[in-house]
Amino acid sequence: MKYRYILVLVIASLFSCKKEVDPNQKMQVVTTTTMITDLVKNIGGDVVDVQGLMGAGVDPHLYKASAGDVTKLSNADIIFYNGLHLEGKLVEVFEKMGSDKVTQVALGEKLDPAGLIGSDYFASNYDPHVWFNIQYFKEFTNEVVSTLSRKLPQHKEQFASNGAVYLKKLDALEAEVKAIIATLPEEKRILVTAHDAFNYFGKSYDFNVVGLQGLSTATEAGVQDVQKLSQFIIDKNVKAIFVESSVPQRTIEALQEAVRAKGHEVIIGGSLYSDALGDAGTIEGTYIGMFTYNVNTIVNSLK
Ligand SMILES: [Zn+2]
Repeated sequence: MKYRYILVLVIASLFSCKKEVDPNQKMQVVTTTTMITDLVKNIGGDVVDVQGLMGAGVDPHLYKASAGDVTKLSNADIIFYNGLHLEGKLVEVFEKMGSDKVTQVALGEKLDPAGLIGSDYFASNYDPHVWFNIQYFKEFTNEVVSTLSRKLPQHKEQFASNGAVYLKKLDALEAEVKAIIATLPEEKRILVTAHDAFNYFGKSYDFNVVGLQGLSTATEAGVQDVQKLSQFIIDKNVKAIFVESSVPQRTIEALQEAVRAKGHEVIIGGSLYSDALGDAGTIEGTYIGMFTYNVNTIVNSLK
C-alpha cells in the first residue's frame, strides 16, 4: 500500500516538473487584469481553468503579488498578461519564473509598436492602456486563440469557433460605440479623468483626453497640475469630469473644487472603468459591457 502511494507521488511530481498538460486535467491559465481574464474565459470556455489575479476595482499599476498569487502562478501552464509595463510590480515575478517552465504571453507586446502611443513614463516607452482600442482587443483575441490551440491542439476547433463568435461581438461593439459617439458634437469631445488611461480611446474616437495623474497612478497629481487643469476646464467650457473605479476619487474632487474656487461649475459625470472591469457577474464585469457603459456615461454627461 505504502509503496503504491509513494509511486503515485513520484509520478505526480514528475508531471508537475515537466508542466505537460495532462489531457484529463483542465489546463491552468493565470491572467492579470479583469479585461484579460474575461477574454480568456470567452475563448477557453470549459476546457481551461482561468484564474484571474486582479479583481474589480484593482489598480494594476500598483498591484503586488500575494502569497496566494505566487502559488497560482507556480501551478500555471500559461500566463496571459497585458505587458508594456502595465503590471509594473508583477513583471519581476514573471521574469523570476522563467519562460521555459510556463508559457508567458504579454498580449500588448505582440502588437505592432508602430501604432502604439509613446510614453516617457513607462520603461516600455509605450502607453500600456491598449485595450481601449477595440481593434487591439481583437488582436488580443487572435493571440489567445492561437496560444491555446498550440497548447491544446485537440481543442483547436473549439477555440477557433469561440474566437470567431467573440470577434463578431467586438465588431458589433465597435459599430455601437461609433454610433453613440456620433451623437456628441466634436467640440464637446474632451475627456478629463483621474489618470491617463484613455489615450487610445481618444485616438480612436477623436476625443481630447487629459488625465490628472498622468499615465500611471504611481505618480500623484500636484497642486500645479490641479490649477492648470482647472483653468483648461473653464477655458474649454467642459461640462463634466470623471472619476475611475480603480483610482481614489479625491484627486478628481480636488479638481472640481479648484474649478469652483474660480467661480465655475463642473460636474462629476460618473465613474468610468479604466484599468479594471466592474464586479464579476454584472454586465460591467465584462469587457464589452464595460466599454458600452463607459461610452454611454461619457456621452450622456458631456452632451
Ligand atoms: Zn492605468
